[in-house]
Amino acid sequence: MNLLHQNNKESLSPSWEKELKGFVHCVVADNLGAHSIAGFLENFSGKYTCRFCTAENENIQTKEVKSGAFCVRSEDIHNSHLKAIKENSVSSHFGVKRKCVLSENLSYFSVTQSFPPDIAHDLFEGIIPVEIALCISVLISKKCFTLADSNETITTFPFKWTDKTNRPHLVPPTNNTKTTIGGNAHERWSLFKISSSLDRSQSSFKRTSMASPL
Ligand SMILES: [Zn+2]
Repeated sequence: MNLLHQNNKESLSPSWEKELKGFVHCVVADNLGAHSIAGFLENFSGKYTCRFCTAENENIQTKEVKSGAFCVRSEDIHNSHLKAIKENSVSSHFGVKRKCVLSENLSYFSVTQSFPPDIAHDLFEGIIPVEIALCISVLISKKCFTLADSNETITTFPFKWTDKTNRPHLVPPTNNTKTTIGGNAHERWSLFKISSSLDRSQSSFKRTSMASPL
């Protein structure tokens, strides 16, 4: 990767005729993989579990980001954590346990800027099923649509391609007492994509299905 970054075509291959530039922009990985490469603790039940800020786990559930309680990790802050580990001979400091393997070898690589959130765990298995469960519960209580309506949409929606094999689970009658929606990450993603159609009285899906029965 250093050769690509330096655009040293001679080093890549003596017969290489084209210029080639490249660099590692970011590492897309699940949280466990990202923490492993970035040098953060691979434990998500400890005190510091976030690679973006130094929030303590117990505060994440009680304080909002806009409160300013969470300190965003910068390169300087991260370097100070690495320095503290070395000077104090501790195994970790604020959730950091060692230098990122890519930062060690690529001078331009930023450990605090180059590990985006884990879309599967943070969104599809995290906040999205919780929000959908809450929205469905509230909208049903406001009589915007019924549970039968939403389940009929899920059952009859003309899903295509991979969404077809990942058709969402039906919403159980006990949804209003639950805090999440069942299914795996792909099934929850499918449900998220059709969530605006759950209210069949308002959706274009109803007009389509009435014109062309499924
Ligand atoms: Zn955070």
